[in-house]
Amino acid sequence: MQLSHKIAFCPTPEQADYFKRACGTARRVWNWALAEWNRQYAAGQQPNAMALKKQFNAIKYSDAQWLDEGGQPWLRDIHRDAHAQPFAHLAKAWNRFFAQVKAGQSAHAPQFKKEGRGRDSFYVANDKFSVDGLSIRLPKIGQVAMTEVLRFEGKICGATVSRSADTWFVAIQVEVPDTQFYRARTAHGITGVDLGIKAVATLSSGESIQGPKPLKAALRRLKIRARRISRKIESAKVQAGFAPNAKLPKGTRLPISNNRSKSAATLARHHARIAHIRADFMHKLTTRLCRENQAVVIEDLNVQGMLANDKLARAISDMGFGMFGTQMQYKAKRFATRLVIADRWYPSSRLCSVCDWKNEALTLKDRQWTCPHCGSHHDRDHNAALNLQRLATETALPVASPTGNGGATTETVSAIAGKVTPVRYECGQQDTSGQEKNRVHICTLS
Ligand SMILES: [Zn+2]
Repeated sequence: MQLSHKIAFCPTPEQADYFKRACGTARRVWNWALAEWNRQYAAGQQPNAMALKKQFNAIKYSDAQWLDEGGQPWLRDIHRDAHAQPFAHLAKAWNRFFAQVKAGQSAHAPQFKKEGRGRDSFYVANDKFSVDGLSIRLPKIGQVAMTEVLRFEGKICGATVSRSADTWFVAIQVEVPDTQFYRARTAHGITGVDLGIKAVATLSSGESIQGPKPLKAALRRLKIRARRISRKIESAKVQAGFAPNAKLPKGTRLPISNNRSKSAATLARHHARIAHIRADFMHKLTTRLCRENQAVVIEDLNVQGMLANDKLARAISDMGFGMFGTQMQYKAKRFATRLVIADRWYPSSRLCSVCDWKNEALTLKDRQWTCPHCGSHHDRDHNAALNLQRLATETALPVASPTGNGGATTETVSAIAGKVTPVRYECGQQDTSGQEKNRVHICTLS
């Protein structure tokens, strides 16, 4: 099983400068490869990443665009993994794109990367670096100090160096032994989880979990900082002879003042801080859910679809629901927790959790309702969580899905057939001692 540990770096200025250049190289090579791919495709050829890489290797030390002012090939200063990996990434991106198109899902073709947009990163292959305590030896720059010791033991598979605001990180992928991969649970509950906007998560036990408070304060500060920088952009526009709120013609480059770049750096740090608060909260929530339960039922949230709703988009992206699903999936494996994912059309909010009467008239605004059939009074989110929980205990009645399972993956619990059986992982974990070292696992990943 592969796990990845992301560790912050403390690079020297020279090392940080190298990281920046290596990321720039990776980005430029990606853009070159994508442009060449598109050109070949338009010309009716069948581009492929391996051939493109060969083509690139033939010109990278001689073609004018890869030479510096002195006519020297600057790629020699950057380790080759940084400019070889983008080809593999590009192939992967196209494969994913074609697979999504084939499956009838919405898909985006690979895009060009723009400086300052998106995540800066480059790759280092496992035979090119070594980790020793608090330092890692990277090609071309030698020992770089890390803030933490690598948490996992096992075969190191590779590393990715990336930047978040002004901090550099290395994510080291490790093939860990089973004893390190599997974790002991502390309890064996069965919980349904309803994700929402009012409370981030409502559990079937009735507990409602609120989002982190620092996030709210940070979001307010975000507005202030964003406004500061937009003011500086406005004044730069005025200086360049445009109206303050004019839309600039494409390709216009405004001069960047020192104050603006300082302000931009502050804003970027603030964005990173918010992302960290959010990720920290989600990690703690998902770990807790998997650690304390033998089965967790969640909804197959259509995050993309919800983000299309302007009113909800902000609140939902604030919560990091996208993270929730992916974290639950790999953590459920680690804790041998059975993860049940309810069909997107399972009406968890509409069903009465006592008598199964379906409230067709329920709207998003209704926080509470009373079932006319059995008279039970429901809190909307708690009722939904209870309905989800029943999917794991199999006391739920069959529910017909109006539009099928939406072409969802086979991993989803389908409600069409009136059965809620297929689940993602079914693991039996007998040992509950909580002792990391002496655990016995009976685990069958299905
Ligand atoms: Zn009822």
